[in-house]
Amino acid sequence: MRKNPRKERHGVRGVSTKIPLSTLPVEEIPTVMADMQVAVRDKSQMMEQVEAMMKDVSPGAVDVIVIGGGPGGYVAAIRAAQLGGRVVVVEKDSLGGVCLNRGCIPTKAMLSSADVYDLAVRRCGEFGVNAKGVSLDYAAVTGRRDKIVKQTVSGVGYLMKKNDIRVISGTAKLKSASSVEVKTSDGKTETVEGRNIIIATGSEPVQLPIEGLDGKNVWDSDAAMKADSVPSSILVIGGGAIGVEWGYLFKKFGADVTIVEMISQILPLTDSEVAGELKKILVKGGIDILTDSKVSKVTKKGAKLTALIETGKDKKEITVDKILVAVGRRPVSSDMGLEALGVKTDRGKILVNESMQTDVRGIYAVGDVTGGMLLAHKASEEGVIAAENCMGRKTRMNYNTVPACVYTSPEVATVGLTEDEAKKRGIDVKVGRSLFMPNGKAKGIGERDGFVKFIAEARYGEILGCHIIGPHATDLIHEAVIAMEAEATIDQVGKTVHAHPSLAEVIKEAALDADGESIHNG
Ligand code: FAD
Repeated sequence: MRKNPRKERHGVRGVSTKIPLSTLPVEEIPTVMADMQVAVRDKSQMMEQVEAMMKDVSPGAVDVIVIGGGPGGYVAAIRAAQLGGRVVVVEKDSLGGVCLNRGCIPTKAMLSSADVYDLAVRRCGEFGVNAKGVSLDYAAVTGRRDKIVKQTVSGVGYLMKKNDIRVISGTAKLKSASSVEVKTSDGKTETVEGRNIIIATGSEPVQLPIEGLDGKNVWDSDAAMKADSVPSSILVIGGGAIGVEWGYLFKKFGADVTIVEMISQILPLTDSEVAGELKKILVKGGIDILTDSKVSKVTKKGAKLTALIETGKDKKEITVDKILVAVGRRPVSSDMGLEALGVKTDRGKILVNESMQTDVRGIYAVGDVTGGMLLAHKASEEGVIAAENCMGRKTRMNYNTVPACVYTSPEVATVGLTEDEAKKRGIDVKVGRSLFMPNGKAKGIGERDGFVKFIAEARYGEILGCHIIGPHATDLIHEAVIAMEAEATIDQVGKTVHAHPSLAEVIKEAALDADGESIHNG
């Protein structure tokens, strides 16, 4: 039997005292501790709870104060409440954070409109459907988007109520390791005490110090979301997921789009074969993509902007209506009183261990503010881990199976090591590939571009990574994610019966291909 590194890493996840001591009245502790001699296998776990109890907090202190109500914070709050904790969430803007209000949810709603429009205008004839007189109503696109956002945000509000979580509308600052001062939205100041604090304050767009890159025609992602019409031309600086999605979206809505990326591929952290394929498809779809390039100067000419782009020694100018800067995000961690308490940061990122604990006992941090992959589901899982540790469990985060997705058409989805990374680490790998093109379902839905690529350890077939570009890649990837979580081997995926016709058959074929046993690969 191979060792299960995840189970080892996760230590005692799932083994808990059931009743966190910190939630009990002080007089009941001796009795419960006596009972727990039987129930608790890990003595240090019990001692930590006792220490937490002995922290200098007032009787009114809650178990967990969560700062920030994004996907990291609100999920942490719910998990802590599920485990019996009294929880307060402080949010300065809107529950749901960037993800629900300005990120994942609104962009995906707009991308769906873009794909429907594209299908109606350019592709429906292919399906034997005539759609004459199709036009774009951008106000209706953004109206639909805003309705979806509103519904989703109010869903989070409902979950807060259902779990008895108090939400304070205001800006929080740490006063000590167990108290937070909140400037509430109605102008008052309130101090909240808690045994644990989870910081989930997220991130904000980075600006670039380029000459002339300012003014109302220079957008970041938040400003692009507020636009009330489609620009006729736009230059996107940054070829990461956010830049590529916005570029794709505006192109489908009819804009002339140029994407400039400083390194040699778009989607910098993605498998190079997959990123190369997406670039080819986007260029075929009319987007101008300049890699190994940078914008060095911007000049305003009336309502237009002219950008000087350098590619090696070559220089060229392009003139556009708007420039969208999508070069990354930085943590929101300043002015929070972290330094005074000794919470360590690195360029704004709050440093945490795998239990999401900072250097200061009782203070945790999760999500974008801790850096790493800036993804909502990573933030949420970290929120779960932090909440469990606050409530006396001992769990740790596993980053090896966190998927990352891009919602263009075709979609891109990846998990685990790329082929290059595996080789750099000196791992002997086998690679399995299969195209969507011959797949019956892909032909039926008219989406034949792309492929699935598996990276497996050569000897035992442990799946190290999976990289998909193709239809519904962002759903299909979870077959690989679960296989990796469960430590299934590549041949087990290949031997699993997959429904026909289905896009998932391409996963099976790619897994079989790793051992040269694909049935349908040409
Ligand atoms: P946030 O969502 O940023 O939430 C932090 C919250 O804390 C905010 O609501 C903020 O108001 C609040 N806050 C900050 N400081 C304080 C304070 N002092 N007091 C009180 N409240 C405070 N990720 C994906 O996984 N999939 C996607 O498809 C995806 N698409 C994206 C598209 C765009 C355009 C963008 C910008 C991001 C996208 N992301 C996506 C990333 C995702 O939105 C973030 O990773 C995620 O929101 C991080 O969650 P968080 O809880 O760490 O922080």
